Amino acid sequence: MKRTFSLKTMLCASVCSLGLSFSTLAADVAIVIHGGAGTILKKNMTPELEKAYIAKLTEAVKKGYALLQSGVDGETAVVETIQVLEQSPLFNAGIGAVYTFDGEHELDASIMHGGTLNAGAVAGVKTIASPIAAARAVLEHSPHVMLSGTGAEDFAQSLGMEPVDNHIFDTERRYKALEKARERILQAGISYGGQQGNERFGTVGAVVIDKQGNLVAGTSTGGMTAKRYGRIGDSPVIGAGTWADNSSCAVSATGHGEYFIRYHVAADICSRMKYTGVSLDEAANTVINNVLVEAGGDGGIIAIDHDGNIAAVFNSAGMYRAQIDTDGKVKVGIYKEWVE
Ligand code: ASP
Repeated sequence: MKRTFSLKTMLCASVCSLGLSFSTLAADVAIVIHGGAGTILKKNMTPELEKAYIAKLTEAVKKGYALLQSGVDGETAVVETIQVLEQSPLFNAGIGAVYTFDGEHELDASIMHGGTLNAGAVAGVKTIASPIAAARAVLEHSPHVMLSGTGAEDFAQSLGMEPVDNHIFDTERRYKALEKARERILQAGISYGGQQGNERFGTVGAVVIDKQGNLVAGTSTGGMTAKRYGRIGDSPVIGAGTWADNSSCAVSATGHGEYFIRYHVAADICSRMKYTGVSLDEAANTVINNVLVEAGGDGGIIAIDHDGNIAAVFNSAGMYRAQIDTDGKVKVGIYKEWVE
C-alpha cells in the first residue's frame, strides 16, 4: 500500500505540474463489504450455511470489484454490490430483513460520497424493494439527506420505483427469530427492545475506493428483531452507521444501533484519522474495541482510507465480511480469523 501511495504521489507531482487533474489517472480500486456482526459462532453454523454465506459474500465482493475496475463510479458499485445482499435471504436487508415486534419489516439505508460529502438515506420504509437504491435517489435527486416512512416511499415511487408488498421481505428463519424474541421480551415484562446478539445480525454494507480515488460507503438493514415500530437504527444515520470523506476514510457499520448513534461511530473513526493522524486501523480499533466495548455496544465496521487501506474490525464473535484490496487479493471471513 505504501508503495502504491508513494507512486501515486510521484505521479501526481509530475502530472499536476502539467496542469492535469490527478483524477484523470487510473487509480487502484478496492472494496470491502459486511453482512452483519454479532454472536456468529461456528458451533451454531452448518457447513451448508457457512458455504452459502461465503459464496454470497464472494459473489457480491467480486461483482463490486469488477464494476470498479470497469470504471463505474463508487455509488454504482456500492449500490449494485449491496443489492446482491439485499436480494439474498441470508442477510438482514431487503429479502430476509428482520421483523418488528408487530410482525412487519421497516427498512433503513444510506449512502455517502466522500468527494462531495453528499449523502442520501431512507428510514423506516416498508414498500421499497431496494432501500439502498432509494437512498442513492435521495442523494441524487433530493435537496434533503434523509427521508422517512411514507414520505420516502412516495419519493421513490415518484422516481419510478414500483412499490412492493411488505411480505416480499418475509422469511421463515426471521419469523422464527421474532417468535423467540417476542417470547423472551414478554417473559421479561418489557414491551420492546433489549435485543440479544443473535436476534439482530445480518445488516449489509459496502465501502469502495473508485478509479477517481473517491471513497463511497453504503449500508442497508432491516434493523433489530422485535424492534418497536418506528425505531430507526444507526444504518441510515450519516456519521453513525455510514460515513465517507476523501480526506480521511469511509465506513459502514453494523451492530447495536443505539450505541453507534450515541457514539457517532463511523464519523468518529474518520475524525480521529483526520485530526490526530493515526492510521485507519488504529482509529477503528480504538473506537470499536475500546470506546464501544467500555460503553457496552457490540458490533463492527468495515472501512477504506484515502490510500486504499482496508479495515474490518469487530468486537463481537463474528462479522460476515469480504474484501478485495488494491492488489486484487480476495479475503472472506465469518469468525475472528479470515476463512480464505
Ligand atoms: N445496526 C443495525 C441497527 O441497529 C443492526 C445491525 O447492524 O445488525 O439497526
